[in-house]
Amino acid sequence: MPAAPSKLFDKILIANRGEIALRIQRACRELGIKTVVVHSEADRDAKYVRLADESVCIGPPPSALSYLNIPAIIAAAEVTDAQAIHPGYGFLSENADFAEKVERSGFVFIGPRPDTIRLMGDKVSAKAAMIKAGVPCVPGSDGALPEDPKEIVRIARVVGYPVIIKAAGGGGGRGMRVVNTEAALLSAVTLTRAEAQSAFGNPTVYMEKFLTTPRHIEIQVLADEHKNAVWLGERDCSMQRRHQKIIEEAPAPGISARALVRIGDRCADACRKIGYRGAGTFEFLYQDDEYYFIEMNTRVQVEHPVTELVTGIDIVQQQIRIAAGHKLPFRQRDVVKRGHAIECRINAEDPFTFVPSPGRITSWHAPGGPGIRVDSHVYANYFVPPNYDSMIGKVIAFGDTREQALARMRIALSEMVVEGIRTNIPLHQELLLDEKFVRGGTNIHFLEERLAKRK
Ligand code: ADP
Repeated sequence: MPAAPSKLFDKILIANRGEIALRIQRACRELGIKTVVVHSEADRDAKYVRLADESVCIGPPPSALSYLNIPAIIAAAEVTDAQAIHPGYGFLSENADFAEKVERSGFVFIGPRPDTIRLMGDKVSAKAAMIKAGVPCVPGSDGALPEDPKEIVRIARVVGYPVIIKAAGGGGGRGMRVVNTEAALLSAVTLTRAEAQSAFGNPTVYMEKFLTTPRHIEIQVLADEHKNAVWLGERDCSMQRRHQKIIEEAPAPGISARALVRIGDRCADACRKIGYRGAGTFEFLYQDDEYYFIEMNTRVQVEHPVTELVTGIDIVQQQIRIAAGHKLPFRQRDVVKRGHAIECRINAEDPFTFVPSPGRITSWHAPGGPGIRVDSHVYANYFVPPNYDSMIGKVIAFGDTREQALARMRIALSEMVVEGIRTNIPLHQELLLDEKFVRGGTNIHFLEERLAKRK
């Protein structure tokens, strides 16, 4: 890496699809950087692909043959003379081997160094690194669980039931099993190990105390190569179904600002200690006024817009600047938060059964007005391919207060029209009127408990 390059890149290749591919394009255009979008055959006709300066088809619809096809992506960067590759989220964004191959092929990977991705991608090594850096973690096994059954039983007694067995290589809410009694422990460990081996190619599992009513609170960080690191406040992402977030907001309602400063400063400090580079998120479970680190995401997140709206900082542009070797243009004291932002993820799925609903969107009307931002790549006559994640966009509402943000979101969703496919908009509308959610501070089980009652 050059010491202090003054110039950003001429051309960036975007190794992703959908709304985040469009979001990255917009950041590049504002910075005067040309874009190359790679796409599968299923995304060939998407408007955001045509909006890019160049596009390259990298394979058939299945992700394994296109968006996960490393040689094809690197070849696309070579033929288009791109200088850097932005991985977005999902797909190859947290694949250390990809980051390494990108750099070895002479391109800049817009993200952390490969060894950082590797360290944080293994939850056992990530936790060890965080404990060392002074970040509080969920009590549990000291590293990976041993083979010896007697030892496993002993550890669980020390941790105290209920416990959760988690795969070191797990992600996307998979590879976890809650255990309530000693009788169920060993079979749960065996099962989780087998699942972890087949799903992640790594049978290592570890144990944590299972927190019964936590909230999911995460801290957004930015760090440059010059040992500067800042945190951009927190997000509350407790509204989840099957460990998948559907509503996120900033700030987290009802949490003491003083305790947050303590945890945020620790995260920024941990970034300096591990030599972190780029944007990242420290995820915590929060219960009884305590924070417990669970994992770090070494990439931009779906919910980054809520932080952008309350801080005024463009996180994607900062990722690009940092990758070009620039220094962060602000310090911690310059990060000033204002107002409240809420994001609803719009999924192409049945709002009652959650069955994916791909197909042609016959009619599309996006909401607007004061404080409304819509990040979406879709439009009328767009075909939602069945091959990928069901998220088709995000509606983000900003207000001076949480009440105003909620009110604006209700209006926005009432204006929004999506026909031809089913979406989860009715579910969001239901939640935005829920007394407990409106009060704020619901925990990660709230949505599933509520859905169970709805039936
Ligand atoms: P993933 O990488 O698959 O998202 P995480 O470690 O981030 O895995 O955990 C995902 C979700 O699982 C959390 O948001 C939370 O809902 C639940 N979870 C994980 N660990 C615990 C725990 N120790 N106690 C209670 N819930 C947990």
